[in-house]
Amino acid sequence: MRLDVERVRKDFPILQQKSHGKPLVFLDSAASAQKPQAVIDAVSEFYSRSYANVHRGVYELSLRATEVLENARRKVASFIGGEERETIFVRNATEAINLVAHSWGRQNVSRGDEILITHMEHHANIVPWQLLCEEVGARLVVAPIDDRGQLDLHAFEALLSPRTRLAAVCHVSNTLGTVNPVAELARLTHACGARLLVDGAQAVPHQRVDVHGLDCDFYAFSGHKLYGPSGIGVLWGRAELLESMPPFLGGGDMILSVSFEQTLYKEIPYKFEAGTPDIAGAAGLAAAVDYLENLSLEAISRHEHDLLEYATARLASVPGLRILGSAVPKAAVISFVLAGVHPHDIGTILDQQGIAIRTGHHCTQPLMQRLGVPATARASFAIYNTREDADALVEAVETAREMFA
Ligand code: PMP
Repeated sequence: MRLDVERVRKDFPILQQKSHGKPLVFLDSAASAQKPQAVIDAVSEFYSRSYANVHRGVYELSLRATEVLENARRKVASFIGGEERETIFVRNATEAINLVAHSWGRQNVSRGDEILITHMEHHANIVPWQLLCEEVGARLVVAPIDDRGQLDLHAFEALLSPRTRLAAVCHVSNTLGTVNPVAELARLTHACGARLLVDGAQAVPHQRVDVHGLDCDFYAFSGHKLYGPSGIGVLWGRAELLESMPPFLGGGDMILSVSFEQTLYKEIPYKFEAGTPDIAGAAGLAAAVDYLENLSLEAISRHEHDLLEYATARLASVPGLRILGSAVPKAAVISFVLAGVHPHDIGTILDQQGIAIRTGHHCTQPLMQRLGVPATARASFAIYNTREDADALVEAVETAREMFA
């Protein structure tokens, strides 16, 4: 099945507008994806017809709202090959990782233990582990990458030791596009008796993810990069791990009973969902999952890969332009620098042409240091992008180069 991009584009109302008088070319979906009408409608429909708080009500609206939330959980769980009770709604990937660091981490990591991450991690998969290490006296160990932005597998394996309690790796790097061999990392990590957490924020929108096939222990992602609303994200975890973990946040909805002497918690996933959840966000996320399943993840991957190859070849012909990250396989994210032009200037000049890209360190400052640059310009491609978008990008980059020549 081929992706019908023209049809897809019509589903995204925001793409119909102009920016600075030019057709909008949106190349920043790695930061957050735009929303199809189906998602916008699902949120609006929920607020218009079914809104009430969930779980506690006995009346029709509350039961309907609960069904919306639980239906979303079913959809999301099946989308990633997990079980409903293993699928926890959180605010975003950041919160998902923090949940594991606080709950599993405090219970399982102690003085002298190690947590292994990689040099390409987003701050969201660095800082929670640093905080945990500081608190319990553990050590953060970093697996190196090579000059192409690929994880050094031998070094990763060598850095695993009986002291390692957890490896935490991104599935796809938001800066380099590197796709990590998660199943292989799971094998190595488990062979050492450690657990594997995968930051899937940049993977789920672009390829089929099956948490059991990957054999990871935790998988985290955000709804907003998956064409869903912002404010909702997902932590998937193995049931037996989640069951043995203490709650992360305490409050309403996560308890069976409370007395001043003793509080009993609900079963998973509710034990980890204190307070009123983002119900409308869940409605929107379910619609986003339906939308992507209808398009087919396989067709999406093929389409984006074509754009990656096309844009890479065209950008590579721009004099003075250097692409950072040439791992195989690679997702449709292109970070680049242009001799003599600061990335922020590139971003501003492109903006004048109606082209939205991201510039800066992309929340991967240690990676920037490894690459020897303070910042990059980053174009990221999604289901609604076309080869014409890549052409517009290359033309505007040429303009930027000429302006600074
Ligand atoms: N991990 C990766 C790889 C990311 O790209 C991002 C978002 N840029 C995050 C984690 C954090 O996502 P969020 O801000 O939605 O929590």
